[in-house]
Amino acid sequence: MLSIVLPVYNEEDNIVRAYESIRDVLAPKGIPFELVYVNDGSKDNSFEVIRKLSQEVSDAQIVGLSFSRNFGKESAIFTGLSHATGDVCAVMDCDLQHPPETLLDMYAMWEQGFEIVEGVKRSRGKENLLYKGFAKLFYKLISKSTGIEMYRSSDFKMLDRKVVDEYVKLSERNIFFRALSSWLGFKSAVVEFDVKERVFGTTKWSVKSLVRYAIGSITSFTTAPMQLITVSGMLFFVFAIILGLHSVIKWATGHALEGFTTLILLLLLIGSLIMISLGIIGYYIARIYEEIKGRPRSIVREVVKSVSKDNDDVAMSEY
Ligand code: UDP
Ligand code: MG
Repeated sequence: MLSIVLPVYNEEDNIVRAYESIRDVLAPKGIPFELVYVNDGSKDNSFEVIRKLSQEVSDAQIVGLSFSRNFGKESAIFTGLSHATGDVCAVMDCDLQHPPETLLDMYAMWEQGFEIVEGVKRSRGKENLLYKGFAKLFYKLISKSTGIEMYRSSDFKMLDRKVVDEYVKLSERNIFFRALSSWLGFKSAVVEFDVKERVFGTTKWSVKSLVRYAIGSITSFTTAPMQLITVSGMLFFVFAIILGLHSVIKWATGHALEGFTTLILLLLLIGSLIMISLGIIGYYIARIYEEIKGRPRSIVREVVKSVSKDNDDVAMSEY
């Protein structure tokens, strides 16, 4: 069975459409599937729609998990994967920007023996310039520091059971799903897809949440920013030696520097560099603090499950 994890945040208009279009793609090929909707603290009626869907659908297993509040897409993916029961699991967006037809290509790759099949964006779809620029910068940073090409990567992936089991074992609170599947290793393949446009609703990312996501992802995946501090410190040290020698020579030859401007500039420059460095270190300390608290990634308030045709005996409707 193929499990498909769908993070849901205020997507009431997309839930049923997602099920229908996935079914229209998978049913003709005779691939049994399970949908795991993870309601990430939606403020609209999403979970009611999921509950209704789970009661009505009989040709697939529908599982709905509802978080007690918004925990973020990464937590939704993780919790969804830990509840998925299929031999192979896919993660895709609920807004159908990830085309369901691509699932077939991924499935074929999985049948060929690939354990991780990653969806790669052929085009990034419609995004505004600022967003595009920001995304480019963010992924350039990550690519540079990790050596993994990220700009076209997405959360649209298919993972073998083995991979899911390993992934779910990872104990860190802050996981960057996109990059971690490359950290895990395994035999992986890539499938290209075109990002579709959203039909209903709007993107759930605000500039603030994107910046938070970017900082969170960078600090959870690489310590390169801290090394940057060391490097800039060393550069300044070299600069200090040169300037120091210069001053001493000037002093020895009788004309001491009259450099008030230099002094002020150096003071300001070094001061701000130190503060930025402290800020960067602060992010990592915050990370450590969060990890050490060991809080759960998410709190599931409610689970609904449909009864699929072939396992009637597990008559579970709600608990
Ligand atoms: N999403 C989520 N929690 C959040 C934000 C988004 O579960 O806090 C889900 C959302 O419902 C969608 C997917 O993550 O299924 C991608 O979100 P969105 O389409 O807003 O992002 P974009 O496609 O613009 O990157
Ligand atoms: Mg989207």
